[in-house]
Amino acid sequence: MHLDNMEDNPSEGKNKKLFFTKELMHWEGHKKRLMPWKYEKDPYKIWLSEIILQQTRVEQGKSYYNKFISNYPDVDSLANTPIDNVLKDWEGLGYYSRAKNLHTAANQIVKEYNSNFPDNFEDILKLKGVGTYTASAISSFAFNIPKAVLDGNVIRILARYFGIGEPYNKASTKRNFQKLADELIDMSNPAKYNQLIMDYGALICKPTSPDCENCVLQPKCFAFQNDNIKKYPVKIAKAQKKKRYFYYFIIENGEEIVLNKRSEKDVWSGLYDFPHVEYETEQNVEKACEDFFTIQKLENISMKDTKRAIFNYKQTLSHQFIFSFFIRINELQPQELYPNYHVVKKNILKKMPFPKTIAWYFKKCYLTLIL
Ligand code: SF4
Repeated sequence: MHLDNMEDNPSEGKNKKLFFTKELMHWEGHKKRLMPWKYEKDPYKIWLSEIILQQTRVEQGKSYYNKFISNYPDVDSLANTPIDNVLKDWEGLGYYSRAKNLHTAANQIVKEYNSNFPDNFEDILKLKGVGTYTASAISSFAFNIPKAVLDGNVIRILARYFGIGEPYNKASTKRNFQKLADELIDMSNPAKYNQLIMDYGALICKPTSPDCENCVLQPKCFAFQNDNIKKYPVKIAKAQKKKRYFYYFIIENGEEIVLNKRSEKDVWSGLYDFPHVEYETEQNVEKACEDFFTIQKLENISMKDTKRAIFNYKQTLSHQFIFSFFIRINELQPQELYPNYHVVKKNILKKMPFPKTIAWYFKKCYLTLIL
C-alpha cells in the first residue's frame, strides 16, 4: 500500500501501529455515545442492528431497531412472519433488499442451524445479505472473534493516521485496508476494539471537522502533522447519479385501486406502486398519458378522462434520483388492466408495503386510510 509518509523504517511502522491500538484501547470518550444495541452480546440482536444501520443514520435506525426487537424477539418469530409484514415494518427505511435478506437469512438459520445463530465468522458470512463488515461485527461482538470491522469510518481514520494516498474505493486498496485493520485489532479484546474504532470515527475523527485537539492519535497522525487532513481519505470520483422519471396513474373504482408489484430486478423490489410509464427525461403529461394508454391498449381512453398531474415528488437513492408524477384517471374500470396489475381494496392499503414515494402520495391523498 502506498503511504504518503513513505515509511521505510519497519520498526517505526510497527511502533506507529502499536501506538494506535494502545491509545485507542485507553480512550474513554466512547462512553458518551449511547445506542440501544451497544455492548449487546446476543448475535441475533447485533445482526438486526447492523443490517438496519447499513446506509442508515443511527438516529433513524433506533426506532426501527426497537420495533424489530419488539415484533420479532427471536429468529423464529422473524422467519415465521410473512415477508409482506416484514416489508411493512421496514417501510420508510429504504434499501428493501435488506429486509428481504433478513427474512431469507432467518429462515436459513432456522433450517440449517436449528434456530441457533451460527457462532463462527465463516458460517455467519454465509447468511444471505451478510458481508465481511457485518460478519466481523457479529463475530467479534457476540463471540470475541478477532475480525476487524472496516467501513467508511475506519477507512477514514486509517487513511488520515497512516497517510494512505491510494483511493479507498478501488478493490485492491480496500483489501490492503482490511489487512492493515486486521493487524491493528487488539487480540485480547476484539469486541472492545471494534466498538471503540466505530465510536472514534463517529465522535472524534469525523468526516468533516475532526476533533484533532482531543484526539489521542494526534502525536503520530500523518494528516494532522502535515496539516493535510482534507486530503484523506482519497477516493475515485463516482459516476453521476442516474435520473429516472416515473409517471404514475392512479386508477380507482369506488373502494378499489389498481397497484403494481415491483419486479425483482429493479429498485423497490417486492413493494407496491402504481401502474406507470418511465422515461430518462422529463415529459409533458399528455405524452405520458398517450404512451400509457397505448401500452395498455386502452384505445377508448383520452385525456378528457384524466385529471392533470396533481403532485410530483423526488426521491434520492444511492445511485439514482427518481422523479414521480401522479396522474389520476377518472371512470376507468380497474378490471380493464387485469391481469398485469393487482386490484385491491383500499382498506387493506395500510397493511401493504410501499416505497417512500408512494407512502408520501398516500399520506397526501388518503390520510385517514394510511395514518
Ligand atoms: S489527529 Fe485529527 S485527523 Fe488525525 S486521527 Fe486524530 S482526529 Fe483524525
